Amino acid sequence: MSDVLATRQALKKVFGFDDFRPGQGEIVEAVLSGAPVLAVMPTGSGKSLCYQLPALMSDGLTLVVSPLIALMRDQVGQMRSLGLPAATLNSQSSEEESGETWRQIRDGSLKLLFVSPERLAMNGLTEALSRGKISRVAVDEAHCICEWGHDFRPEYRLIRQSVEKLGAVQAIAFTATADAAMRAEIAERLFDRAPRIFLHSFDRPNISLAFAAKDQPRKQLLRFLNVRRGQSGIVYCASRAGTEKLADFFAEQGFDTLAYHAGIEQGRRNANQDRFLRDDGVVAFATIAFGMGVNKPDVRFVAHADMPSSIESYYQEIGRAGRDGLPAAALCLYGLDDMALRRRQIDEKDLSDDRRRVEHARFSALASLCEAVACRRQLLLAHFNEKSEPCGACDFCRGEILTRDGTVEAQKALAAVYRTGQRFGLNHLSDLLIGADSEALRRNRHDELKTFGVGADRSKAEWTSTFRQLFAAGALRTASAEHGGFALTEKGDAILRGRETFVLRADPPREKGATKPVLRKGRDFEDVATGDGKVFEALRKLRRELANDQGIAAFMVFADRTLLDMAERRPASLDELRGIHGVGERKIALYGDVFLEAIAQASV
Ligand code: ADP
Ligand code: ZN
Repeated sequence: MSDVLATRQALKKVFGFDDFRPGQGEIVEAVLSGAPVLAVMPTGSGKSLCYQLPALMSDGLTLVVSPLIALMRDQVGQMRSLGLPAATLNSQSSEEESGETWRQIRDGSLKLLFVSPERLAMNGLTEALSRGKISRVAVDEAHCICEWGHDFRPEYRLIRQSVEKLGAVQAIAFTATADAAMRAEIAERLFDRAPRIFLHSFDRPNISLAFAAKDQPRKQLLRFLNVRRGQSGIVYCASRAGTEKLADFFAEQGFDTLAYHAGIEQGRRNANQDRFLRDDGVVAFATIAFGMGVNKPDVRFVAHADMPSSIESYYQEIGRAGRDGLPAAALCLYGLDDMALRRRQIDEKDLSDDRRRVEHARFSALASLCEAVACRRQLLLAHFNEKSEPCGACDFCRGEILTRDGTVEAQKALAAVYRTGQRFGLNHLSDLLIGADSEALRRNRHDELKTFGVGADRSKAEWTSTFRQLFAAGALRTASAEHGGFALTEKGDAILRGRETFVLRADPPREKGATKPVLRKGRDFEDVATGDGKVFEALRKLRRELANDQGIAAFMVFADRTLLDMAERRPASLDELRGIHGVGERKIALYGDVFLEAIAQASV
């Protein structure tokens, strides 16, 4: 039998999937060919399968280096639920568990072993492992090897030595975030020869994006969550206190909530994370400390109660939604306070001047995305150098952003840029327009310009927002990397001279001249939750009971997508059940009969 056919059969038989997701097939093939591989795929695109499937199809053991114990535990649970022999060795394993694991390593029955980089570097482990048959080492979250990345873990640099000690076995590495420089660093520090690199699109078309200026943030969040009751979601907050306050508030509103941040005592923190993973419909209010270990496929929404720190972190955080490929929603609230806070945080960090400028520029990119009057996904992908068409699903494409004609304001703003020599930034230009009492204006004799004070009818905040929108729309560009000053583009020139009009966001909604938005009820949510309402709910209930009995996460019994597929197609025999997405042989054996019965009952 050809390899290709065999992998496809295993994909269906073990995982219950009919097809590879984009990229998976060629990566699996490369891994099975024995080549060193570095794969960069966005969160939720199905990286794990790229080492799980080859592990199952190869002789010997695949050693998986993974950064977090919680993540490993989860992965092992999932592997076992599919009937794959997997284990982890970590500081929390009992002596008995470790004994059993070592027995399986020695007799060659174990397929996947998860260890942390620290553990791998510890005395004796590689020696002991090298006596077993190791077929390859898979490194998860490989960007942790990069010093400049935000997750730097020095122990990742020791992995290569271990690989060599294991007899220079095949190395394969995965990450969701690595630009060209990081890829080069990973290639150099992890591999002994140039790896085959696979890059996959950053597009996550099932996540709909929305941004809203903070007006009454709690109400805005409540509106967003209300239409998503019963769904799992994450609400990111900038501060620890914020997570607790919001968790309490939403608990009072009848949501199943929890708070998560680094200040919560470890035991409770782990328990909270477990509960989020296991139960259906928990909303976690969390700081960015909540993240890496959360590979729950059915997170239906991610909201930002406060602005994230950059587009990269925004993208990573929303990437935790909709890993199962079903519709999911992201809402990001932003306010001027947030912007000021993030700027201050960058200024207070211990950074070189160069680095600080880079950080400010990264944050500005996000601020522009927040304020843009254009397709969000198109802008987001453009940030990652991907070209795309308007998505049709973001708040802009759905016509949910209030706009109004802003040509006059745009002309005032552009004139301010032009008359000051096209080199000043947001703050200075906004001061100029409102006619502020500012030392910098006087020093440059800008208080003598005609433009001084022509915008006194609006607040400074409104002007900074106007500048950002002009920037996001491509009417302004940065004049020089150093000072964050603006210069006109061709488009800006055309607006200034009255050859083109300009549309402004009308935020906050109470601003004069704005039309009230039509509040659409969570369309995405309804797509997911109802399927065939009655059957789906019955299956969900059964899933919860089965998961509770075994103390495992609901999604480990079956994913939402599987239940929806069942509710729609209503299989009546084990064979028909095999045709459903996500149903492999192990699941047939464990749950086939009970689910068939439940489908039959709920269908009458
Ligand atoms: P990543 O590690 O890239 O963030 P995961 O490996 O956790 O993503 O996979 C995300 C989800 O996608 C999981 O629920 C997984 O079962 C599912 N998945 C992976 N491969 C496929 C596939 N070929 N078809 C359908 N679902 C898949
Ligand atoms: Zn769009």
